[in-house]
Amino acid sequence: MTREEFIEDLRNRVRESFAMELETATPNELFVAIGQIVRACYAKSWHNTRQRYLVNKQRQSYYFSIEFLPGRMLKSNLMSLGLLDMVRSTVEELGFEFEEVLNVENDMALGNGGLGRLASCFLDCLASRELPGNGNGIRYDYGLFKQQFVDGYQVELPDAWLKSGNVWEVRRESEAVEVRFGGNVYMQPTKDGKLKPVAENERILRAIPYDTGVVGYHNDTVNTLRLWSVEVPESEEGKYRSIEERRMVEDLTAVLYPDDSNEQGRLTRLSQEYFFVSAGIQSIVRYYKKLKMPISRINEYVAIHINDTHPALCIPEMMRILLDEFDLSWEKSWGLTVSMMSYTNHTIMQEALEKWPLQMVKYHLPRMFQIIEEIDRRFVTNLTGLYPDDLIQRTRIIQGDQIHMANLCIIGSHSTNGVAKLHSDLLKSVVLHDFYVLYPERFNNKTNGITQRRWLQQANEPLANLIDKTIGTSWRKEPTDMERLMNYCEDNEVLVAFEQAKQQNKLALAKYIEKTTNIKVQPNAIFDVQIKRLHAYKRQLLNLMHILKCYFDLKDNPEMDFVPRVWIFGAKAAPSYTYAKAIIKAINEVANLINHDPIINDRMKVVFLENYNVSLAERIIPAADVSEQISLATKEASGTSNMKLMSNGAITVATMDGANVEIRAAVGDENIYTFGLTEEEVYRYYEQGNYSAQAIYDQDPVIQRVLNAFVDGTIPNIQREGQEIFDSLLRYNDEFFLLKDFVPYCQVQAKLSQDYLNREKWQKMSLINTAKSGIFSADYTVQRYADDIWQIAPVDLHKEKRN
Ligand SMILES: *Cc1c(COP(=O)(O)O)cnc(C)c1O
Repeated sequence: MTREEFIEDLRNRVRESFAMELETATPNELFVAIGQIVRACYAKSWHNTRQRYLVNKQRQSYYFSIEFLPGRMLKSNLMSLGLLDMVRSTVEELGFEFEEVLNVENDMALGNGGLGRLASCFLDCLASRELPGNGNGIRYDYGLFKQQFVDGYQVELPDAWLKSGNVWEVRRESEAVEVRFGGNVYMQPTKDGKLKPVAENERILRAIPYDTGVVGYHNDTVNTLRLWSVEVPESEEGKYRSIEERRMVEDLTAVLYPDDSNEQGRLTRLSQEYFFVSAGIQSIVRYYKKLKMPISRINEYVAIHINDTHPALCIPEMMRILLDEFDLSWEKSWGLTVSMMSYTNHTIMQEALEKWPLQMVKYHLPRMFQIIEEIDRRFVTNLTGLYPDDLIQRTRIIQGDQIHMANLCIIGSHSTNGVAKLHSDLLKSVVLHDFYVLYPERFNNKTNGITQRRWLQQANEPLANLIDKTIGTSWRKEPTDMERLMNYCEDNEVLVAFEQAKQQNKLALAKYIEKTTNIKVQPNAIFDVQIKRLHAYKRQLLNLMHILKCYFDLKDNPEMDFVPRVWIFGAKAAPSYTYAKAIIKAINEVANLINHDPIINDRMKVVFLENYNVSLAERIIPAADVSEQISLATKEASGTSNMKLMSNGAITVATMDGANVEIRAAVGDENIYTFGLTEEEVYRYYEQGNYSAQAIYDQDPVIQRVLNAFVDGTIPNIQREGQEIFDSLLRYNDEFFLLKDFVPYCQVQAKLSQDYLNREKWQKMSLINTAKSGIFSADYTVQRYADDIWQIAPVDLHKEKRN
């Protein structure tokens, strides 16, 4: 597309869609019109990709995830299509602010955090590596709540992201399917002496797919993210007469559950899970029928991935279709199902392991219940005599009156993976050890990754351009080529240029901070960043305790040498998670206290930015000097913000948890600040039960002063919250060992401050972090999934088009 063609197209679309002239358009109209042009640009490739897969009978993978967190898509699509520079310069020449146009787009925030963001990174990488892989999920009418602070408290507002339409989605009426709930199932004998399930009194809902193109980077691949929305089918209209009844149905895909790990609104949540699973599996089987292949070979063409346990019903739903609709035997159906399914475990935290009450599943999903019961019965029968009874009882799916979804996933799939080396090892040795005894060959590791296209190329253009200038552009397609930057870590000119790029980004963030919070920050201070969901195990409170310590040090000794620092937080707390909300309030009150204290004299600033989401992450990350990754060892399965920040040249302050371990191995001990309890030490405390927070408190006056600040009025306006925090640490013995890790944490922070003054040393560390970050590209992660788990191969649509 030439510049002239683009302007012509833009002019026409603004006229047709808005009945106005281009000259009078606002960023809103421009965004929609450009979005339409971009969609039209890839429409042909999208159709072509689907057609190719169909004609080639391509083996494809389907990534089932109850969350996707893509963020905005205009800039990433423009970049993938190679149109970004042309469109940007043209829009600016026409007299508009391109940034403003980009900012019109609502974030697509159909996820809570890391898990949903990972799913979106994977889709981007699948398309960019020309791999035939698709997403399957829920089209929530409301995304993750918008966060505001009122008097320092988190307030949640609905995110009506679809209010002004969604240019990227296509509603596919003709591909709707029916999903059935409730009723009862009885077994009816057939003529050939078998039993066939017959359902009666079911509620039938219609699932409508909305497809979004996932555009590959500089290739002709456009894969599909299919999200399902609920409707009342016409045939059933009569049954839902009252407004309440209709609302019950429509609520099914209305909201994303804002709970990071604990469940709530349980029945709607279970219904959501079955809804998108059943619709997705039916749609896959319907597609497979078009290939005109026998059902007994479906596992050669289909790989289904279960992202955490929320889509676990994929297993019994596939069984249902094979048994009830294709009349396959149990053994045959089971063999096919297990060979198609694979599962990723995301957490070892006990309270986050999904379980459903037997009665709820039996009543609302009766056929699923029957099949799960039979899977469980056969599991026990087949293993009895081969393994100790207690091991069988610990691993079975139905225990007491609960269904254990992780157990279902492991038993019903051929692959279970963790998301970082440490996490996968813990699964084998501790958390899922019983299953590892049964199925050692099923366990494997796939360390998470991020897409460098969004998190470096798109978010940090100053750095990306500088990398181009230094080592050429090949890293944009092959991120490990960034390693060539290692040749420049003694090159002063390059180091200074990198420092200037960072400075430029810090300036831009400082502007944003001033605009949104009225706080002025010094761009030459250390920008110390902790951005992630607010959770006790992530230990934002440890960060806050260190801030308080610095504050007291300066108050006692105002003339001391102090390297200026800006602490930047971004975090949402689940609305029902009162402890996390108390910490938000406490951070905001400490910020207020410090930011206005004349003795501090701007040497410390604490900034808590509202409404952390993908777009805000893209603003913060390029400007970070320091990346706080300080979860208690064993608690963060992998983390991915650690990878994003590293590739943007931030230095990590890290516990030996999740992928931090691999980051340290990549950059070397001297380019990361590690501290804190190790995995072994944490488990030793658990075994021996001899941790005493009180004993640590009693012996350390600094810790006393910091903790007392929460309850003695030093931090204003947090009577209730301060007491809750104080009690969690002393009365309830500090579940996440903050007091134990506090002193070593403060020590590495002091070292870091000193190192920051040595500009050459710091800049070299920063460059090395970027240089070594290529291995954390999700391009490689999905390639390993493709090779080891899904057995899918790239399809070069470029070449096929040329031929
Ligand atoms: C990357 C990302 C996360 C995950 O952060 P962690 O620190 O790995 O938990 C959460 N939310 C958003 C918006 C992200 O971009």
